[in-house]
Amino acid sequence: MIGEIAQLGANVLRLKAQVIADSLSDETRQLIATLQDTLATTQGVGIAAPQIGVSKRVIIIASRPTPRYPSAPLMEPTVMINPAFQIVSDIQEKDWEGCLSIPGIRALVPRYIEIGINYTDQQGGFVETRLEGFVARVFQHEFDHLEGAVYLDRVEDNRDIFAESEYFKNRLDK
Ligand code: ZN
Repeated sequence: MIGEIAQLGANVLRLKAQVIADSLSDETRQLIATLQDTLATTQGVGIAAPQIGVSKRVIIIASRPTPRYPSAPLMEPTVMINPAFQIVSDIQEKDWEGCLSIPGIRALVPRYIEIGINYTDQQGGFVETRLEGFVARVFQHEFDHLEGAVYLDRVEDNRDIFAESEYFKNRLDK
């Protein structure tokens, strides 16, 4: 099933999402399947359950080069239930982000460049790992959706916000 992407202004994008109590339930499996199907119809590199109108703590990170993100590294799409992260280094870097819930816009967003993360996987296993660079950025972006935040909330200066047409014209994606 393909979900409808909630657009900026929808209340569900501003809620703190609920913890998944049973990672193996039919309801959770269905939610994950819908998230996977929905993400596959887009050029996004990640998606969070609130973006399809479900205020639950599930995200998918699926970095891959697409016309939307030409320099994104390729990785297996990874489902993360009840994800959490810790800061490894307090160094932040600004880079470009966009969001399926905020079409037509790109902005420079400061993010931690290296984080330790943990989550429950689709089989119910507990996973701990480290992420850096672009993938760490995608994680922090999707995690924000679970907290009711969007990337524009983190932009430091309105001049860091670009129309997507202008962003592509200037080939700002290195
Ligand atoms: Zn987003």
